Amino acid sequence: MHKNFKNIDKIVYGKGSFNQIDEILAPKRTENDGFMVFIVDKYFEGKELANRIPAKVEDMVFFEDIDQYEPTTDQVDNLRDQILADKGIPAGIIGIGGGSIMDIAKALSLMVTNEGSSQLYQGLNLVKKAGIYHMGVPTVAGTGAECSMTAVLTGPVKKLGLKCDWTVFNQAVLDPELLSTVERDQWFYTGMDCYIHCIEAESGLYFNAYSKAYGDQALSLCREIYLGEEAGQTLENDEKLMIASLFGGLSLTYSEVGACHALSYGLSKILGYRHGYANCVAFNHLKEFYGDAVDEFKSMVEKHNVTLPQGISKEWSEETIDQMAEVAYNLPHMWNHAIGLDWKEKWTKEDIKELYRRL
Ligand code: NAD
Ligand code: ZN
Repeated sequence: MHKNFKNIDKIVYGKGSFNQIDEILAPKRTENDGFMVFIVDKYFEGKELANRIPAKVEDMVFFEDIDQYEPTTDQVDNLRDQILADKGIPAGIIGIGGGSIMDIAKALSLMVTNEGSSQLYQGLNLVKKAGIYHMGVPTVAGTGAECSMTAVLTGPVKKLGLKCDWTVFNQAVLDPELLSTVERDQWFYTGMDCYIHCIEAESGLYFNAYSKAYGDQALSLCREIYLGEEAGQTLENDEKLMIASLFGGLSLTYSEVGACHALSYGLSKILGYRHGYANCVAFNHLKEFYGDAVDEFKSMVEKHNVTLPQGISKEWSEETIDQMAEVAYNLPHMWNHAIGLDWKEKWTKEDIKELYRRL
């Protein structure tokens, strides 16, 4: 069976495109109970961008703190309960922030029409009813969450996405100017999420010409942004990074991530490491999976004076390593891609623990 992939309905791209949000939302405002909900990264509270959000009196604006934890099922459930109790079903949800905020917006758009906790829907095609109109406005680029079919949430048991056709944004607004305030290290880690998506997509079973076409473009943009003569955090590079993130996401959608993301999920779930950072920590040590790309990655780390920790596993107890390996082992789709459909015959939890001990 081939993936029947749902794409974003509409995309506006270019500097200043943020200013078009009001006009784009206008015809949607009569839907459901006639108000919009803006989910905005707390970083922007009190900042200039907050004043530019085209919220009307009837709308709700939430500044969400995503710094302590990656998005959780509780966080989404609580927002949903509050919105439904206060005002009813929104006409639309607009997420303004990085991958974390975009995932919250995507999940929320499904949860306002589906009963019970979002925990019930972590997995593929478990969502029962269509969600509502939703828009993604990335302010840090690389995750591809603006185009992916999944809204990744951490629940009590698993870190797993709510994945179905209805998860995908109806509208993406890709304004590279919004990236200008991202801290240098974060700009690097999230950008590397894109680079790693493309490398993982091409290093396994599910790779194909569709994935390659997008992945090659995204990789060549990443190379200009992070290694080229004009490398660095400039508007010109942010214009490229916004598209690299989108294309990396599209490459991945038609392939799969592998060993690096499996290890990264363990680091995030058990130790709370942020996604982009966790990927970098793992990728650095996975030469048998990714070959020359690991050397290229190291040269990007060096060029941007990013420090990645060494020897951290020495501080982990056997129990911690065990828990992380348990999380990583339970991502069969990633191991199918990385090792093959018979991976269980070749690959054990003990092998995964060995990889963690390298970090
Ligand atoms: P993020 O959303 O977690 O944000 C990282 C930091 O950047 C935060 O401190 C935030 O406040 C800050 N920030 C955001 N925009 C800023 C700006 N313009 N200026 C200054 N600071 C800004 O970062 P991320 O790496 O984009 O997202 C990671 C999340 O995305 C993880 O939760 C991960 O699970 C998820 N993810 C989802 C998908 C998907 O397909 N749905 C894919 C990859 C990752
Ligand atoms: Zn990722």
